[in-house]
Formats: sequence, structure tokens, C-alpha cells
Amino acid sequence: MTRKVRKRRQSLEQCIARFNMKIVNDANELHAMAKAWKAQGKTIGFTPTMGALHKGHISLVAPSLKENDISIVSIFVNPTQFNESSDLEKYPRTLDEDAALCEAAGVDIIFAPGVNDVYPEGADYSVDLPLGNMATVLEGEHRPGHFEGVIQVVKRLLEICIPDHLYMGQKDFQQFSIIQRMIDYFEMPVTLRVCPIKRAYNGLALSSRNQRLSKEGKLLGSIIYSTLCYVKENFEEKSIAEWREWAMLELTNDWSTPEYFEFSDGQTLETVHDTSKHDYIVASTAVWIDEVRLIDNMTIKQEFSN
Ligand code: AMP
Repeated sequence: MTRKVRKRRQSLEQCIARFNMKIVNDANELHAMAKAWKAQGKTIGFTPTMGALHKGHISLVAPSLKENDISIVSIFVNPTQFNESSDLEKYPRTLDEDAALCEAAGVDIIFAPGVNDVYPEGADYSVDLPLGNMATVLEGEHRPGHFEGVIQVVKRLLEICIPDHLYMGQKDFQQFSIIQRMIDYFEMPVTLRVCPIKRAYNGLALSSRNQRLSKEGKLLGSIIYSTLCYVKENFEEKSIAEWREWAMLELTNDWSTPEYFEFSDGQTLETVHDTSKHDYIVASTAVWIDEVRLIDNMTIKQEFSN
């Protein structure tokens, strides 16, 4: 066991000792518990997270508590979905605070595995899922390999926790769309529930990464939300190409740099060129502020016909 792993285990053990809520780190142990609950006819709600929890994460837990007998939250910073090692290293890890928030919210189990618990050595957890362009547009274009990692970890976590309901946030629009595709493709016995984006008072979408923003960055970050709102409110006034250009300019300042601002079909993630051809359109963006990469999105049009 390396020093880093030993230190992590020690802090996990101290954390486990402090809380009434159960904190499990062994995948086999949790799977056995989940199987026993299922055998008793209990329903399981599961919320996967990477920790550094905030009110956005807790807003996913609330419906889980209402709809299920047992609610599990996983806290696992999945290395396979980071395409930059510096981003992985800088990702905030705050297990003590996370456990306190979960306990206050009424969570039954925190699953806080180590990398070896999720990916035991020698086992192959790659997933063969045909996604077409779904994984190569938007975030996929700018973070190569990211969604392969997301699919891999969510599939593995679902196999361990065997939940009836899976809770994910609209904040990661492309992520939940791809996970829904995975559930459909493998006919997995789980229902995905998507919860709305929780925002700070100024509209900045809550994110674990916001911890790395300066005070000014948190204030100025409201430009992402105001830009999305402006596009939505005035959508009829410009073409898609004009809005894209306008938003990229609006988000370009001394203190902010947009990576993309794109309009996608809400179902297929196909890039929208002609709005009349799509009933469901989502605008998504990634913007750098204070060297922190922030993502956000807003449904611009949603007209479903029977
Ligand atoms: P993360 O820990 O960033 O991987 O996020 C875990 C889950 O929480 C994902 O399903 C996210 O979409 C969701 N989430 C993150 N931020 C928010 C937010 N501001 N509002 C609602 N859900 C969120």
C-alpha cells in the first residue's frame, strides 16, 4: 500500500467513526448490502458524485429520499474521466464536509471507494457503446476520452449499487443524455431522473469547481447565466450562427474566455443549424474564469408534439 493510499484509508476510517450514516468503501460489501435490500423488496435511489458537495448535489438527494427506501450517494473522483492530470489533482476532496452534508440531508449510505475498489487490478471495465457523435461534440470535442470514462464509471457504479432510480443533474446535459442512451442500449433496469440546475443568487451554476474561483470570479461568473437568459428571451431575433457569434463575443472579456457556445438537439445532441427542424434545443457553453473551466446550459426551445 503506498503512503498516499494509506493516508487516504486512515482519513476515511476516521471519517467513518464520526458519522451515524454508514460510509462504505468496499464495492463487494455495498453490492451484498444492495442485494439484501432488493431481496427484502426495498427500492434504492443512487446519486453518483465526485464529492465537494454543494446544494446542487443535495437537490438530487431530496427526490431520492422521497422515492426510495434506501438512498446511496457515491463520492468518487473518477480518474478515467479526466483528460488532464493537473485537473484531476486540483479537484477538491472534502470527505468530512461531504459526509456532514449527506447525514444532515438524510442519506443512508455514502459509498466512498478508492480507485482499486472501483477498478480492481486485472479486470476490464471498458464499455462498448455506440454513441455516434454524441460523445464527440460539445464537452467531448474539448475533453477527448471524457465520456468514455464517465460511461465506464457510471456503468460500474450501477452494477455495484443496483439502484431502481438514478439521479443526475441537468447541469451536465451531455452527460445525462449519454447515460440515458447507455441505459436504453443495455436495457438496464434503472430509471434516470434528471433534476434542475441549482444556481447561486446571481445565477452562477453551483459547481464543485466554484471553490477555486476568487470572490470576483464568483461575481463575474454570473455573465454565463445572463448570456444564456438573454439568448433564450430573444431567440427569435437572430439566426443560430448570429447568436453563437454574439454569445462568444459577450463571454470574451479580460477575465473570461469562452471555449464554445453551441446549440444542440436536446435528444440527439446533433448541432442545430435550422431551428425549425428541432422541437427541443439546448444552448450549452464552457467558459474559463480564473483558470477554472465552468460549464452551463439552458433549454431554449422545448415543444413536444404527440
Ligand atoms: P459532479 O460531482 O460534478 O460529478 O456532479 C454529480 C451530479 O450532480 C451530476 O449529476 C451533476 O449534474 C449534478 N450537479 C452538479 N452541479 C449541479 C447543480 N448546480 N445543480 C443540479 N445538479 C448538479
